[in-house]
Amino acid sequence: MSIGGGELKAFMSAQNNAIVNAEQGDHDRCGWFHPAAAHRATAAPTSGTAWRLVLLGAPGVGKGTQADLLNQRLDACHLSTGDLFRAASKQKESDQSPAMRSAMEHMRRGELVPDSTVWEMVRERTNSIRCSSGFVLDGFPRTLGQAEALKQLMESEKIPLNAVVNYELPLANIVARLSGRRTCEKCKAVYHVTGNPPKIEGVCDRCAGKLFQREDDRPESITVRMAVYERSTAPLIEFYKALGVLVSIPAIGSPEDIYARTIETLKARA
Ligand code: AMP
Repeated sequence: MSIGGGELKAFMSAQNNAIVNAEQGDHDRCGWFHPAAAHRATAAPTSGTAWRLVLLGAPGVGKGTQADLLNQRLDACHLSTGDLFRAASKQKESDQSPAMRSAMEHMRRGELVPDSTVWEMVRERTNSIRCSSGFVLDGFPRTLGQAEALKQLMESEKIPLNAVVNYELPLANIVARLSGRRTCEKCKAVYHVTGNPPKIEGVCDRCAGKLFQREDDRPESITVRMAVYERSTAPLIEFYKALGVLVSIPAIGSPEDIYARTIETLKARA
């Protein structure tokens, strides 16, 4: 599989459409920033199966985009710990707790936020996992400690996990996607410096907003994030394999291709 401009262009522009479509619904990725906003916890499911999914995969495989699509189309609730931390980083520093300020530092360096801080954020949103139309966890759990804590919580709530979807992509593709990724600070459209460049460098085609590179997409942070993934998160693959819930999906192609592959595989297990 080539990682030339064609693949990147197709991936980035399709990713944009996927994100915009998802955001046009009521499935705002930061919708659960406030714990009380797990508003669909008691809503009736709108489709037959309530899917309870965890998404795994190295940074840059496109988990966030898949989470948006799954969330939108399965009508599931979506919890992204990365989005929660990014939203927290936009708060005034004086409004941030010392634990949150330290979490921001970890995040900037591409390191994992300590389990205790992550768990506090997730536990405040326990309603999310009770969401009757199912849920998609994206970026959580990321360590064996977090996975154990989630397992105990779900057992105590008597809520089963349907599947853990592990997105797989060769390292070279991941690095190419992450290092050239640029995001609009206003509308969140995603570009790629070579694969899907804007018409005017640094300016969003859609809303003229300023494009920025996520701090943790800089080369020094990517190296740290990949090492952290190998050390802390890759062991979750064995953990969930042993529980019989792991499903591996190749993350090659456009977001729609990957989504179709995911749904097909999940339906075959149902
Ligand atoms: P993401 O958007 O999921 O790649 O997350 C961005 C950053 O947030 C990560 O590089 C970590 O610094 C932090 N983060 C998000 N989720 C977790 C988690 N479950 N455990 C530890 N750190 C996390």
